[in-house]
Amino acid sequence: MADPTAKPNMKAPSPLPAVKGMNDILPAQVLRKDKLPDSASWQWFETVVRDVLARYGYQYVLTPVVEPTALFVRGLGEVTDIVEKEMYSWRDEMNGDELTLRPEATAGIVRAMIEHNALYNGPLRLWTIGPMFRHERPQKGRYRQFFQLNVEALGFAGPDVDAEQILMVRRLLKALGLQEQRHVRLDINTLGQPDERAAHRSALVGYLEAHAASLDDDARRRLHSNPLRILDTKNPAMQSLVEGAPKLIDHLGAASREHFDAVRAALEAAGLEYRINPRLVRGMDYYNLTVYEWVTDHLGSQGTVCGGGRYDGLFEQLGGKPAPAIGFGLGIERLLMLIQELGLRTPEASPMAYAVVPEAAAMPRAMLLLEALREQGVTVQMHAAGREGLGSMKSQFKRADASGARFALVFGADELAQGMVAVKPLRAEGGAQVLRPLATPGDWAHELRTA
Ligand code: ATP
Ligand code: MG
Repeated sequence: MADPTAKPNMKAPSPLPAVKGMNDILPAQVLRKDKLPDSASWQWFETVVRDVLARYGYQYVLTPVVEPTALFVRGLGEVTDIVEKEMYSWRDEMNGDELTLRPEATAGIVRAMIEHNALYNGPLRLWTIGPMFRHERPQKGRYRQFFQLNVEALGFAGPDVDAEQILMVRRLLKALGLQEQRHVRLDINTLGQPDERAAHRSALVGYLEAHAASLDDDARRRLHSNPLRILDTKNPAMQSLVEGAPKLIDHLGAASREHFDAVRAALEAAGLEYRINPRLVRGMDYYNLTVYEWVTDHLGSQGTVCGGGRYDGLFEQLGGKPAPAIGFGLGIERLLMLIQELGLRTPEASPMAYAVVPEAAAMPRAMLLLEALREQGVTVQMHAAGREGLGSMKSQFKRADASGARFALVFGADELAQGMVAVKPLRAEGGAQVLRPLATPGDWAHELRTA
């Protein structure tokens, strides 16, 4: 047992910083300029998501952040960037389990649906939000813990649901204030089916071998393990080589072409402009047929805010009954940074009112009124006492201003003696101070709510 009378270690402990590449999401008033968007804009994002997704019949799910490592190795493919070098994996010392912090959400959701036989009664539309973990080089828009909105339509085979999902993203982006074409635009492609990809792959390997001298180290390493990923290179020196490579679209069979054409027709009917990007291949092996990305030119090189596609083989690959499916992941940091960068409006997190209490004796009466106002839907922040008490009026008003509140409620002794509270506008356009009765907050709470 530690001796409670022992002198504490005199050396002051040094602060422990967060893990590199992992962020604190904070309220606006404690944010430094260069930091990620404030926590209120995250909440706003979630509110908009909830509303838009519900209109399409998507339902909420949560799955664990930790999954068996094998789930991602089997699901994503052994030679993908994520599985090769980005996963946080470890062996549980207690029982020897091989575990991984999820780098993406789809594999976990599919695992859960197989485990619960969830498609037994028909297809499902699901969504989730949460942190993903990838051991990448941290930079603007690229972190080691980042948040994704994940949306999955499970058990649907037809191109109609592909188009519906893409249109839903469009509606979501619009609801967040982003303009199509000007701020964000859609890239689509088709990956065909595995046999069509195999034919394309041999043509591609032939082409790349013929140009072996122009390949970078990464490409040379991938030439036989995952040549398709070479098309996704970010190396500018390789761009012209990649432009001239054989295209998958020329190796597609009739069914794959029809599926793609049907998606395109539905998007066109909805007036959605898109670009066909034959180099869009996506980072996981599980994709087939339709793949898409929503991209922006306003975020530098981290310009993909949303990426998705069909993964008809994944259920079977993870040991379930075969089921077609399509889904997407949307990077919340990138999306909110884009909104911030464009100077678009996000809602304020400020309280409507801030209670200024000159004397501690007035506090019980003040608290009663604040409770009554909250009952009426008013957001109001109480000035709570510190070690030195409530502090001067001046310091309380300073706090009230800093809170961003539109009104101060002043519980001065004179006002209280008359059964009143003073409502003092804090912003220039707010008008004159008025007195309001403590006894009937229901009669005037709307003045705080709607101002
Ligand atoms: P990138 O090509 O930028 O590495 P990705 O193809 O690996 O992206 P997905 O796995 O498709 O990304 O994830 C979907 C979305 O999640 C991305 O479009 C992006 O917005 C976001 N995202 C992916 N990785 C990160 C990361 N390390 N940090 C922040 N956001 C990320
Ligand atoms: Mg990546």
